[in-house]
Amino acid sequence: MAEGITEQRALELLRAAIGVPDIPVIIENIATWRAEANCADRFRDGRVFLAGDAAHVVPPNGGYGGNTGVQDAHNLAWKLALTLSGVAGPGLLDSYDAERRPVGELTVEQAFTRYVTRVAPYLGTQNTQPIVDDFSMEIGYRYDSPAIVLEPGGPPLHQHPRESAGRPGARAARLPRPRRHAAVHARPVRPGFRAAGRVLGPGLAGCGTRRGEGARGGAGCLCGGG
Ligand SMILES: Cc1cc2nc3c(=O)[nH]c(=O)nc-3n(C[C@H](O)[C@H](O)[C@H](O)COP(=O)(O)OP(=O)(O)OC[C@H]3O[C@@H](n4cnc5c(N)ncnc54)[C@H](O)[C@@H]3O)c2cc1C
Repeated sequence: MAEGITEQRALELLRAAIGVPDIPVIIENIATWRAEANCADRFRDGRVFLAGDAAHVVPPNGGYGGNTGVQDAHNLAWKLALTLSGVAGPGLLDSYDAERRPVGELTVEQAFTRYVTRVAPYLGTQNTQPIVDDFSMEIGYRYDSPAIVLEPGGPPLHQHPRESAGRPGARAARLPRPRRHAAVHARPVRPGFRAAGRVLGPGLAGCGTRRGEGARGGAGCLCGGG
């Protein structure tokens, strides 16, 4: 919401959006926010790790802000747990910046392109990235870090999940279950680590989510954005 907006103007906008001019509305709160597109230079400094909007802020177009923050937490949480419990060495925590910052930078650029093309064309599209499709943005990012045994040549930063097909650094492919009308989502397991859940094959473990239960892979997806 633009700064300085009055309750009267907010009412006018709401009623115009709803399409009923005299609908009774009570305004409880007006939140102001500023569109920004910024990414931190580093996501780790010693024992301090940046995640969420502290690490990257994006315009709301695309609905990436919350999603990207959840992905940060998803990436960092198990690394902290394994490091603090002594299972992994401290080097594992370095992979957080190596894996998440490139995704943060990509997300900032992609949200900015969407903002410029959809909301603020007066800013011009020079120096903006071409649009990457939403599916690739949400669950098609691929990691490149010493914690992952990569294929020769290294992965692209993003790839449509159908093309990446569970390659190293990517979200694991969705695997069919033997039972009818059921499927599991799978996530990659780092070599040498045990995953909670059923092991389905080399390097894969099922989280047991069935089709229709609402989970969407990776760290999940908060839909929205314009
Ligand atoms: C208009 C709009 C629409 C959006 N739509 C979407 C969408 O559709 N999909 C999507 O994924 N994302 C969306 N976002 C982005 C999403 O809301 C943010 O990316 C997300 O809330 C960031 O979460 P966070 O936990 O990193 O930070 P925050 O949600 O900002 O949480 C930080 C918390 O820390 C607290 N805090 C701050 N300083 C201190 C302190 N010193 N001590 C203690 N506590 C403190 C704050 O009060 C706050 O509660 C949208 C954002 C806007 C503005």
